[in-house]
Amino acid sequence: MRYATVRAPGGGSLAVFFDKGAWRSLEDRSGRLYPHLRAFLADGGSRRAGRAVIEEHEAAFLAPVPRPPKIVAVGLNYADHAEEQGKSPPESPMLFSKASNIVVGPDDIVKIPPTAGQIDFECELGVIVGKPGFEIPAAKWAEHVFGFTIVNDVTSREAQTADRQFYRGKSFDTFCPTGPVVVTPDEFDWNGKGLGLRLNGTAMQKGSTSRMCFGPPALIEWISAIHPLEPGDLIATGTPAGVLMFRPEKRFLQPGDETEAWIEGIGELRNRFEKR
Ligand code: ZN
Repeated sequence: MRYATVRAPGGGSLAVFFDKGAWRSLEDRSGRLYPHLRAFLADGGSRRAGRAVIEEHEAAFLAPVPRPPKIVAVGLNYADHAEEQGKSPPESPMLFSKASNIVVGPDDIVKIPPTAGQIDFECELGVIVGKPGFEIPAAKWAEHVFGFTIVNDVTSREAQTADRQFYRGKSFDTFCPTGPVVVTPDEFDWNGKGLGLRLNGTAMQKGSTSRMCFGPPALIEWISAIHPLEPGDLIATGTPAGVLMFRPEKRFLQPGDETEAWIEGIGELRNRFEKR
């Protein structure tokens, strides 16, 4: 099943699911529409057959979960990305967080801040939590995952390097494009999916989720052992090789650049970069 948050025909936004060739509204018991998927998930996330609101080709996608309760990200989670920086993959997941109010959607502008440079991209498989849980065993991961989306974990390498920790470099406003849709685990086998990123049409990253050091089951167990997971939480599961930081040309993102992050079975997430 595919879900999304789309621009509503009359303004505002709507949580929808795809069925029989159209995007249909998700409705609560009294027929009220959910404005986005976080509201739907917070209410238990049980699907209600709604009206066909938008034709397949007319949907304007927004960030599926506009403001996740938490964004937990995983560093060095692909063997090839660890290799390109001369590091060995960690023995346990290496976590950091991004601010949760910086999420943007497909086609939104990512703003290059005045105070930090060396802006880089990271195409990642995003996991969106559905059912809440604490100390979830890996074997039960799928019960707690609502679905998968694309995340571009935009980063200021300048800030990341200067601070020797990740929060500032990863948390500038708009540094978390997500979308366009969420695909549920029954329709998306996370293992062995191609993923990558194009910069102004040129392939920069290309990898496979089968090269993840810790997949979603292990990550759900590891992260939920720290704190409870809540509906709408976003886990950015790490990026494959090919980021700008480790390329010989050391060219970083500039105003006017366009990134296109893609994951096989989910789609493409396009964003343009401009000065804040
Ligand atoms: Zn990342």
